[in-house]
Amino acid sequence: MCIPRSVLISGASIAGPALAYWLARRGFDVTVVERAGALRSGGYPVDLRGPAIDVVARMGLLPQLRAAHVDSRRMTFVGADGAPIGVITPEDMTGGVSGHDVEVPRGSLTTLLHELTRNDAAIRYRFGESIAALDDTGDGVEIRFATGTRGRFDVVVGADGIHSSTRAQVFGDEAQFDRYLGSRFNVFSLPNTDGLSHEAFVHSEPGRTAALYAIGDSDTLFAFLSFADERRFPAQLDAEEQLRRTTDAFAGGGWKVPQLLEAMRRSDDLYFDTVAQVHVPRWSSGRVVLVGDAAHAPSFLSGQGTSLAMIGAYVLAGELATHADPTDAFAAYERLTRPFVEANQARAASGGSRLLPRTPAELEARNQALFAMQRSGKPDARGEESRRVHTSLQLPVYEVLR
Ligand SMILES: Cc1cc2nc3c(=O)[nH]c(=O)nc-3n(C[C@H](O)[C@H](O)[C@H](O)COP(=O)(O)OP(=O)(O)OC[C@H]3O[C@@H](n4cnc5c(N)ncnc54)[C@H](O)[C@@H]3O)c2cc1C
Repeated sequence: MCIPRSVLISGASIAGPALAYWLARRGFDVTVVERAGALRSGGYPVDLRGPAIDVVARMGLLPQLRAAHVDSRRMTFVGADGAPIGVITPEDMTGGVSGHDVEVPRGSLTTLLHELTRNDAAIRYRFGESIAALDDTGDGVEIRFATGTRGRFDVVVGADGIHSSTRAQVFGDEAQFDRYLGSRFNVFSLPNTDGLSHEAFVHSEPGRTAALYAIGDSDTLFAFLSFADERRFPAQLDAEEQLRRTTDAFAGGGWKVPQLLEAMRRSDDLYFDTVAQVHVPRWSSGRVVLVGDAAHAPSFLSGQGTSLAMIGAYVLAGELATHADPTDAFAAYERLTRPFVEANQARAASGGSRLLPRTPAELEARNQALFAMQRSGKPDARGEESRRVHTSLQLPVYEVLR
C-alpha cells in the first residue's frame, strides 16, 4: 500500500486550514470545503498556549500572531453596584503564561491561516460547499457534494466544529458525544463608549455571569452572557428562544446587565451555543478522521479549543505522511494526542465554577480565590495545575518535504 495522497477536509476555520498547510508541505493534494460562502471571521479572542505556540512558530506565523496579541492586562471582578471585588491578570485566572502565550481575535487567526494556504498549488478551497453523502469503500472515500458534484479521496477529515456533520454522518448522532456542562452562552459586540482598554470586567451572580471584554484599544467591546440552564435539549436553540431564555435568566441582574441585554437584542453578530464538550470514543472510522472541535471540543471554559485544534492538525498531518496505511496514521495521531486532550477537557469540566459559579457557595469560593490571587500576585494551585496541563505534551518533530 502506498501513502494516501488526496485528502478532503470539511471545515475552513482553524483546524481545517492548519491541517491543509501541513499536509501540503508533506506532499499531499488537499481540498477544503467550507459550508459558509466565505471565511467566517467573527468571534471572541482565542488563546494559543503551550505546544500550540511551537506549532505556529513552525508555520512561521508567530511574529504576526504576536503583533495581533490583544495583551489583556486586567480582569476586574465587580459586584452588582459595579464596585471592584478583585483585580487579577487573565493569566492568573487561566493558567496562561505571560510573554509566551498569545491571545488573538479568532478572525485574525482564521484570516492568517487562510492567507498562508490560499495560494498553495496543492490546496483548493471550495466555499459554499459541503459533503452531502460519503461512502468509504475501503480503499478510498466516494463523495457526493451538496452542489451535486462528486469526487473520490484517499482520506476524509471532519474539521467542521463542535456540531460536525461529518461526525454525524460517519459516527452517529451528536447527542451521544455531547457532554453538556449545564450552561448556555451568548457573545456579541457593542460600541466601546467608556473607552475601556486591554481589560475585562466580570460580574457573577449564582447561575449567571456577564462580562465585557476590551480587545486592546478597539472601539468595539465583546460582551458575554452565560447562564445556567438545566434544559439541555434542544441543544441548539433558535435565536428567538435563546434571547428569551437569556432575558429570563438575567432578569433583575445588577451591574450593566440591563444595558447588555438591550445591546444583545440589537446586535447583528450574536454567537451562542451551549457550554459543552465533545467526547468521541474513537476519532476515526475507516478512512474518515476527526480533528479539532469535531473530535474533542473542550468548551470555552478551557480556553484550549484552538490550541488543541492546531496541535491535532500538526500531528495528524505528520502521522499521515509517515504511515502507508491511513488507519495506522489515525491510531498514532490518537495515541499521541488523546491523553493531552483528555487532561485539558478534565480541567475545563472541573473548573466551571470559577467563571460560571452556580450557587452562593461557589461564588463565595471564587471570590476567596480571587482575593488570594490578588494578594499574592500569582495564580493559585488551580491556575498552576492548569498551566502544567496546558504544557504537558512534547510535540513530535516530522520531516517536511517543502
Ligand atoms: C463563527 C465562529 C465563532 C466562534 N467564536 C468563538 C469565540 O468567540 N471564542 C472561542 O473560544 N471559540 C469560538 N469559536 C470556536 C473556535 O473557533 C474553535 O473552538 C476552535 O478554534 C477549534 O476550531 P475548529 O476549526 O475545530 O472548529 P470551528 O472553529 O468551529 O470551525 C468549524 C468550521 O466548519 C464549518 N462547517 C460546519 N459545518 C460544515 C459542513 N457541514 N461542511 C463544511 N463546513 C462546515 C464552519 O462554518 C466552520 O468554519 C467560534 C467558531 C465559529 C465557527
